[in-house]
Amino acid sequence: IKIKITHIDIPVAFASAFEGEIIRRGDMQVEFDGSRVDCFELVQTKDASEVEDHKIEVIGPDIDEMPEGSKQSIAYVVEVAGKTMQADFESVFERKFHSYLNCVEGMMHTGQRDMIRIRISKDTYNAGFRLKHIGEVLYAKVKSEFAAVVDKCQVKICTDAAECTKLRHELATPVYDKRDERLTTLTDEGVDVYYSCIMCQAFSPSHVCVVTPERLGLCGAVSWLDAKATNELDPQGPCQVITKERPIDERIGEYEDVNEAVRKFSQGALEDVSLYSIIEKPMTSCGCFECICGIEPLSNGVCIANREYAGMTPIGMTFSELASMTGGGVQTPGFMGHGKHFIASKKFMKAEGGIERIVWMPKELKEQVKDRLNATAKELYGIDNFTDMIGDETVAEDPETLLAFLEEKGHPALTMEPMM
Ligand code: SF4
Ligand code: ZN
Repeated sequence: IKIKITHIDIPVAFASAFEGEIIRRGDMQVEFDGSRVDCFELVQTKDASEVEDHKIEVIGPDIDEMPEGSKQSIAYVVEVAGKTMQADFESVFERKFHSYLNCVEGMMHTGQRDMIRIRISKDTYNAGFRLKHIGEVLYAKVKSEFAAVVDKCQVKICTDAAECTKLRHELATPVYDKRDERLTTLTDEGVDVYYSCIMCQAFSPSHVCVVTPERLGLCGAVSWLDAKATNELDPQGPCQVITKERPIDERIGEYEDVNEAVRKFSQGALEDVSLYSIIEKPMTSCGCFECICGIEPLSNGVCIANREYAGMTPIGMTFSELASMTGGGVQTPGFMGHGKHFIASKKFMKAEGGIERIVWMPKELKEQVKDRLNATAKELYGIDNFTDMIGDETVAEDPETLLAFLEEKGHPALTMEPMM
């Protein structure tokens, strides 16, 4: 018999009303920041004998031992066991942590994997909230929402900085890499179905992501394998099977089946989408895209900005300016939100010529995608070290300087067909 847990044992309220709550620097007791120190969140499938149900273990200092307003490391591992549990479900559980932890009054969570950031407010701390309560929330939600596959669940929370670093490299990174690797062997042509995702309709009511093996959700957190697992876990849930039997235009990746699905799941707000074009019927964007790409007319290519980049782009807009015109679940030809992983995909704006169109991206993002992007450029066009041809903020923040740089490097976009 499975018992459905509804009560969560924490000293503050837990409700979806708190999901959008912002905690300002002055109001925060402590911050865990994965962009500065080693942090991560992970779900691991274990044998039943290795999991003691509802055990919550804290390793390292608790919040009352941390200086007020400080930045700290945190790693939490949720270990689950169940007869029908599959390793493919792990990342689906992880994706939900964002919403679980945001439902805690006075707690803010952003990001995923090893790029999480968490703030806990002074009021929540003063109400008695401590690290074990993070474990209580994760335990209660995983046990209740995934009761069909989870029999036992335990949570380990670590705040010891050295241990977080060690665990990140030895435990978490290999798991993330393995998941990403599984995906690289899959192609859009090689599968029979795609999946829809409407998890973001709470914020963007008409937004639908179409998730394919070579194009993950724009949040970067929902791969085709994740969408498939989500559908298996909850067949009536946010991810539905989309067939791809009736192609309309293979060049831009348009299918009658996909259009029908998008029409249905957007309640008629969206007529048709393409999978591979940013100009013709581009996919919509909600608000949680990892990156935005936009056309830069002078260089006949696209610039990409990631969320972490605060500076100017040669398009003349910052990430947040681009975001304000790209989001909201509407189609904005010429601009598109997307996941970081999509940048090295052979399907990245394939209709407009593919990754050869990328003329600029922030240096840090370029470093992150370099290996995969260079490999794709080599395979598709025989170009070596393609990222050396792509500008960044150290080269140019305006179109004229960028163009001069691209000419010097002989960037392929300059000789391609005009985009507009
Ligand atoms: Fe799903 Fe797309 Fe939202 Fe990601 S961005 S959660 S894939 S709807
Ligand atoms: Zn979203």
